[in-house]
Amino acid sequence: MNTRRAFIAGNWKMHKTVSEARDYFGAFLPSVRNIVDRDIVLAPPFTALTAMAEMIRGSNVMLSAQNVFYEENGAYTGEVSASMLKELGCAYVIVGHSERRQYFHETDETVNKKIMISLKHGLGVIVCIGELLSEREAGRTYEVLERQITTGLKDINNEGLVIAYEPVWAIGTGRTATPEQAQEAHEHIRTRLREFYGKSADRLRILYGGSVTPENIDSLMACPDVDGALVGGASRKPESFEMIVKFKGG
Ligand code: PEP
Repeated sequence: MNTRRAFIAGNWKMHKTVSEARDYFGAFLPSVRNIVDRDIVLAPPFTALTAMAEMIRGSNVMLSAQNVFYEENGAYTGEVSASMLKELGCAYVIVGHSERRQYFHETDETVNKKIMISLKHGLGVIVCIGELLSEREAGRTYEVLERQITTGLKDINNEGLVIAYEPVWAIGTGRTATPEQAQEAHEHIRTRLREFYGKSADRLRILYGGSVTPENIDSLMACPDVDGALVGGASRKPESFEMIVKFKGG
């Protein structure tokens, strides 16, 4: 375990109506009320953010959006700006999730612009990086991470950043990276971040994401460079996310 404060974030993706989200928060918030030694973040869909912002007021749970657009405002039908998210109470936004890269053609360049505008408006940013299975099998994992970091974080200050290493082959597949695979990638990412940010990179939190469950969270969190988790499927039930948040250690 290290001295970085643990960070556990749940990403609901395109799941839950406002009433379903209310039911979830009604059960989840009391169950984690006494936790003070780790950050707890949930990312509901945009439509539930306003209602959730009211429910979490005064609690130890923070809100994240799942996406943001990189312009301040304008004729961008369907998009949501950083200032809109900030005003309604988001503490964080997820940028560069592999599903956005895969289905919505996000590139390292647009990821960079999204990080830039989010930080400018005082949002923390959870930046997702990670390789495809074909890239891992071709021995290109580090090369991909290198590109995503170099372009994605170009000219970005590290204050407010959280990095999520999410090997794409582990997302929603039930195939988790082993603690050894996670630690190896995280260590590599931190080394690269040190080249970018110097010693302050040691304060940056690097989350693991990819089929995290109550069963595997303890062994992942035992890795020295794993500082938290970004959780998809297992964050959708309050009981299983509670168990993940309450991982042993920390
Ligand atoms: C994710 O959505 O970022 C994720 C890691 O999903 P899952 O936990 O379902 O693999």
